[in-house]
Amino acid sequence: MVDTGISAVWHDSDQSFELRELPVPEVEEGGISIRVLRTSVCGSDLHIWRGDGIEKGAPPRDPFVFGHEMMGEIAALGKGVETDSLRNPLKEGDRVVFSYFFPCMRCYNCIRGELGACLYRGGRKPLDEWAVCNGGFAQYYYLRGPNFIFKLPDEISDEEAAPINCALAQVIEALHIGRVRFGDHVVVQGAGGLGVNAMAVARDMGAHQVIAIDGQPARLDLALRSGATDTIDITEYDTPEARIERVMELTGGIGADIAIELVGFPSAVEEGVKMLRQRGTYLEVGHISPNSFASLDVQKLVSRQIRFHGIQHYDPWILPSAIDFLMRNRDRFAVCDVVSDVFPIEKIGDAFSQAEWMGRDSNKITRAVVAP
Ligand SMILES: [Zn+2]
Ligand SMILES: [Zn+2]
Repeated sequence: MVDTGISAVWHDSDQSFELRELPVPEVEEGGISIRVLRTSVCGSDLHIWRGDGIEKGAPPRDPFVFGHEMMGEIAALGKGVETDSLRNPLKEGDRVVFSYFFPCMRCYNCIRGELGACLYRGGRKPLDEWAVCNGGFAQYYYLRGPNFIFKLPDEISDEEAAPINCALAQVIEALHIGRVRFGDHVVVQGAGGLGVNAMAVARDMGAHQVIAIDGQPARLDLALRSGATDTIDITEYDTPEARIERVMELTGGIGADIAIELVGFPSAVEEGVKMLRQRGTYLEVGHISPNSFASLDVQKLVSRQIRFHGIQHYDPWILPSAIDFLMRNRDRFAVCDVVSDVFPIEKIGDAFSQAEWMGRDSNKITRAVVAP
């Protein structure tokens, strides 16, 4: 095994990445070293990159390495690790997906089996505490034990597999919590990476109608090929009222059974809850930056009996289900064959500027992928 790897280290001061060669962490008993093959630029990475939610004058967060929507191959297995989490044999070079967070297995929520809600859930240690090559936008990622890792079938390409552990897993978790049922009407706010995955998953779960809301033609087009049955272009329906009315029209005056928010603008929440039917379910996923305040008439949530869920992370069983979903649907939905732009790690800055969609009406597909 090689001793060092390249990491793209982020600096707030000049908002740039610096490539740094760092030692690859030693593999302990129960641990696994991953050679990262593909990491997509997730919406939450763009929030970090833009500095969303940071107060003016706040101290810099750097240096740090981010990136989490990734897949890779086994670089080294720690003592005692011979299989993946479903007991399929593992060896060096096997392509795998894995959760990028680590439940402690020793807390109130973990012992209830709610591993995605672990109170001591760890990610990776900060760079100044542990100066090793370890990250999504780095050549290596270290899975300490206990971890959740799954071997990939050969049919699923590296690019297809990268979104499994974030975009795809996250929307499966959300729609599972929202209990999409046969014949449901579902609104998906935002047709980015999570959005198009949500559309495909909702259809696969039995939704009759999936209404995609976005403002970019290319994304709306992709939405229609990824399971959306209807689209609402926000440049055409350019007020919240117009969009709410359109959802009502499309649902026969009833409203949606479920709406899922994948944009991350507070105004989208204010608008989305009004698109629901009486006793509809709102799935809030998009807001991951601090200081996201929405103005909601809570009495209306009560009188309209809205079920409101805040959702982040997922339980490990979601990952093999996500792989099965891709195997089942790779010919049905375009989400499974979106050709991404792949950037070498040296061009990570370009990957981000190309993935950035705010303030643009470009018709570029926005899934940028880094191949470290
Ligand atoms: Zn993500
Ligand atoms: Zn825990």
